Amino acid sequence: MSVAFATEVIRRLRARGVVVSDNWTDWRRNGNGQTSAYAGGIMHHTATAYGDAFPALVAGRPDLSGPLCNSAGCADGSITIVAAHPANHAGASGGRGTRPFPDTGVFNRMVWGHEIVYPGTNPMTDAQWHSMVQLGAVICEILNRGPEWIKGHYETSVTGKWDPGFAPPDRSISMNDVRAQIHDALEGDMFTPADRQFLDDIKEQLTGSREPGQFPGFPSFVDPTVKLSDVDFLRRIDQRVNTLLAHSDTQQEALRDLTQAVSEQHGIDGDQLLSAITTAINEELERASLGSSKSPRPEQPA
Ligand SMILES: [Zn+2]
Repeated sequence: MSVAFATEVIRRLRARGVVVSDNWTDWRRNGNGQTSAYAGGIMHHTATAYGDAFPALVAGRPDLSGPLCNSAGCADGSITIVAAHPANHAGASGGRGTRPFPDTGVFNRMVWGHEIVYPGTNPMTDAQWHSMVQLGAVICEILNRGPEWIKGHYETSVTGKWDPGFAPPDRSISMNDVRAQIHDALEGDMFTPADRQFLDDIKEQLTGSREPGQFPGFPSFVDPTVKLSDVDFLRRIDQRVNTLLAHSDTQQEALRDLTQAVSEQHGIDGDQLLSAITTAINEELERASLGSSKSPRPEQPA
């Protein structure tokens, strides 16, 4: 089961746009010798520098033999597959947040362990957070279980582990937040919160539910005659756009789908609308480029 499970993890992560490295280790063979009975996943931090702790994750430490996880979450958001078979990461279960898992001394065989490579005393990168959520969703999909089967180590540990950190003032991150995002990811939304905000902003300007140029980042790019505030129209386009966005693989594709839906509804040229939006966004981003390196920047349409 283990290799088939890991293979499916890889395939589904890639389908969700996560970069996966499966050539770094002999992951098909690696394991602690137990037979897997995966029922969920556990998220950890490595308590090392951001980036790359792979030799140790495969080989283990003086006090604990490897592999120390099934997958590693790199600082750039990519995921490296370390071991298909159960690994030594979770210890025994029985902490206060263990349910629906049982209390057991052989917990590792039940859980896919994801070590996110960051200090834990500082937050993980946005990219690491995103790929953690996508991995959680993928595990739930394969097992046909809900997000309650994805835990943080601090929830199941009986030895006082507090990973993954870091979220002042509570130290550990909120796994309830993570599970809520996994729930959304299972609904088909593959965008980061920043992507989502960006697309929502454009959608609201296009549909006239907000004034164009009212919020930071975007000038008025919509012809005033295009605006419609009819409630039925808004509801219809909202449903249509949300469906389209849920099935778009990239932000650029989502933007194209969105403008297409709006333009069909209005009988205007979709390419022209998309071009006008893209130009306006890029001009605005150029103006506000200081400190906004994380802002989404769609490519010019071909
Ligand atoms: Zn841990």
